[in-house]
Amino acid sequence: MPDNLTKVKILTAFEGVPDSRTLTCYEAGGGYQALRKALALPPSEITAIVKASGLRGRGGAGFPTGLKWSFVPQDSDMPKYLVCNNDEGEPGTFKDRYICELSPHMLVEGMAISARAFGANKGYIYTRYEFFEEIAWLRTAIDEAYAAGYLGKNILASGFDFDLDHYEGAGAYICGEETGLLSSLEGKKGQPKLKPPFPAVSGYLGCPTIVNNTETLAAVPWIITHGAEAYRKIGTEKSAGTKLFCISGHVQKPGVYELPLGYPFMKFFAEEAGGMAAGRELKGCIPGGASAPILTPAELQDATLDYEDLAAKGSMLGSGAVIIVDAEQPMVELLKVVVDFFHHESCGQCTPCREGTGWLANIMHAYVKGEGKESDLPLMHNISQQMMGRTICALSDAAAMPTQAIVQKYQDELKNYLQAKAG
Ligand code: SF4
Repeated sequence: MPDNLTKVKILTAFEGVPDSRTLTCYEAGGGYQALRKALALPPSEITAIVKASGLRGRGGAGFPTGLKWSFVPQDSDMPKYLVCNNDEGEPGTFKDRYICELSPHMLVEGMAISARAFGANKGYIYTRYEFFEEIAWLRTAIDEAYAAGYLGKNILASGFDFDLDHYEGAGAYICGEETGLLSSLEGKKGQPKLKPPFPAVSGYLGCPTIVNNTETLAAVPWIITHGAEAYRKIGTEKSAGTKLFCISGHVQKPGVYELPLGYPFMKFFAEEAGGMAAGRELKGCIPGGASAPILTPAELQDATLDYEDLAAKGSMLGSGAVIIVDAEQPMVELLKVVVDFFHHESCGQCTPCREGTGWLANIMHAYVKGEGKESDLPLMHNISQQMMGRTICALSDAAAMPTQAIVQKYQDELKNYLQAKAG
């Protein structure tokens, strides 16, 4: 393995360490030293380091983090906010909760540093209410950080104030979309808003707001401690650093693994996850959560786990949720589950999404019962085509893309299914 693909524990540094969630343990491992260092730097320097590191948003979109921070107008008198998107609703994704389980202080420290960079004095961690344990761990970490002077007024006598609260969402996929999340945080229905304006300019309560994913924020302390260059040396030129990959489905060792971006997919699958479960055969893989188009075994052979390669193969890295599908899994069932999910989670504001997801779900319900027609497949492709790029947020595309991929790549299986039901 070349140096840039050598495994480094950044987000999982405390894996296997007893009591890793406690402040005492986090401090003993070097925790909050990055905050001390950051508080001694001009805020613009923190943004410059994060920009130079190449860190990109780990929630799915992959937008450059430092660049996003630089959109916050520094001449505005309005309060500025930092919101951590810890909603983690993408099916197959369970990596942010792993950070909450291992090192909630890494997130708290990352938030304090990030807030300092663009001048936010108030922050929220937004988590869906079902994550009972994660919420309790985060609340404890926040309390410990306040008691130690890492949050609140005049942090470490620096003159910088940062208050952090936790907010429990009611549990809707669309609240993982940043404007939907902010609507929910404001106490309104969790519905996305048209952009522009982007939240960096007009977000929470109309004020400049940065929304970053948990994993993104948790990477910031390491970058400040070790420097941008050290982070850039990990991964590929355009996909720098490490990423958490959560692998599920029919594999020997499902779980969360931290790997350098650009890591070969098959090596990850075979060596980390242990390959297919006994007696199972690989039929496909959804590499980035339910909204990522499925890849066939042939496409996976030379795939690498980074934004560019998976996009070039017509899919996406997304949230890093790798779902393995074995040969016994009927694709009709998988497609039905996917379209049902997006139909259920559509907020209903946009016609192509509200109606399109409903049509796809209706077609699939009939198809699974053997009441479909072969012409349903081009019809589904056509409906999906009309759903893309025409809506307020990306949920419509998120439903259309995996539908098109399954219909196109597993067409023969879908046709055979109907014939078998008819026969
Ligand atoms: Fe709501 Fe769907 Fe429109 Fe997004 S695309 S705003 S989820 S209706």
